[in-house]
Amino acid sequence: MNWLTSSGQAANYYAVFNICEAGDHAVMSSTVYGGTFNLLTVTMKKMGIECTVVDPDASEEELSKAFRPNTKCVLAETIANPALVVLDIEKFAKVAHAHQVPLIVDNTFATPMNCRPFEWGADIVTHSTTKYMDGHAMCVGGAIVDSGNFDWDQYAEKFPGLTTPDDSYHGVTYTKKFGKGAYITKATVQLMRDLGSIQSPQNAFLLNVGLETLPLRMERHCYNAQKVAEYLEGHEKVAWVNYPGLKSNKYYDLAQKYMPNGTCGVISFGLKGGRAAAEVMMDKLSLAAIVTHVADARTCVLHPASHTHRQMTDEQLVEAGVAPELIRFSVGIEHVDDIIADLEQALQSI
Ligand SMILES: *Cc1c(COP(=O)(O)O)cnc(C)c1O
Repeated sequence: MNWLTSSGQAANYYAVFNICEAGDHAVMSSTVYGGTFNLLTVTMKKMGIECTVVDPDASEEELSKAFRPNTKCVLAETIANPALVVLDIEKFAKVAHAHQVPLIVDNTFATPMNCRPFEWGADIVTHSTTKYMDGHAMCVGGAIVDSGNFDWDQYAEKFPGLTTPDDSYHGVTYTKKFGKGAYITKATVQLMRDLGSIQSPQNAFLLNVGLETLPLRMERHCYNAQKVAEYLEGHEKVAWVNYPGLKSNKYYDLAQKYMPNGTCGVISFGLKGGRAAAEVMMDKLSLAAIVTHVADARTCVLHPASHTHRQMTDEQLVEAGVAPELIRFSVGIEHVDDIIADLEQALQSI
């Protein structure tokens, strides 16, 4: 059961707002995408919804400390953008459920080709379809997918919006009337009706064209990214490489467990020359485009500290797993030899 939204951010906003109102509280992984981090810690705070940010690698005991009686959900990303932290979905689901709340997982980077979070206990999945699902930078969009598995009635007093009559919709009680479809129906008839943010028909059409080749593209993205990550890891000018498909990676085992067929096409790395060398090197790239966009059929590159994450302090950057020198390299579906040749000539220049 799902709702296509106008953007990934609309999906994350509505996924949380559908069950959180003023006076409520959410728990969120510290490594989520910068826009989502701001959405919950700044914008939704102004709406009276508090958020506690947690370390995704924390133990169950540590995570449990973040919960309050008014906590209504947990939000995290399968593979964090751009930190590439792989979420231990089962651990997060277990802690969320022990505190009687659903786990919402943003599955944008993995896509349903590589990970199906419901199979590991997540209750609600969100996507920015702007990324791999569209795949060609044609349209912005998002999706909220409800597993229907969370038993709202069991914790009826926590979720009155779903378990008591809605005066704005002729007194319907969503869980009584729609059962497993309660959450997504409320989101659609209430939030979509009142706040809009639907996906335009043209964008939905373009998204569908993209979805037809998603399985083929994801296979190629993962194949190429593995090769590029191995090439970078062996390069003398490269200080470090972060890709969950590398055996040396901290998240290799988690990635193998949750995404045995591959993770995503996005790699991050730092040069020995630091931030300054990164800027010079990026300017020399010719096949890879410097764009904010990511997870596209074409290879693209970004420096988060000066682009997407520039509103964050140095401390917040470190917390989010984004080093100032970090280069986010989104490997496309071109021939991998061409991508590596482009990197090679650019690295020669520094
Ligand atoms: C890009 C992105 C978003 C935001 O999506 P938009 O469609 O740009 O609003 C949310 N989550 C993740 C993981 C993303 O990569």
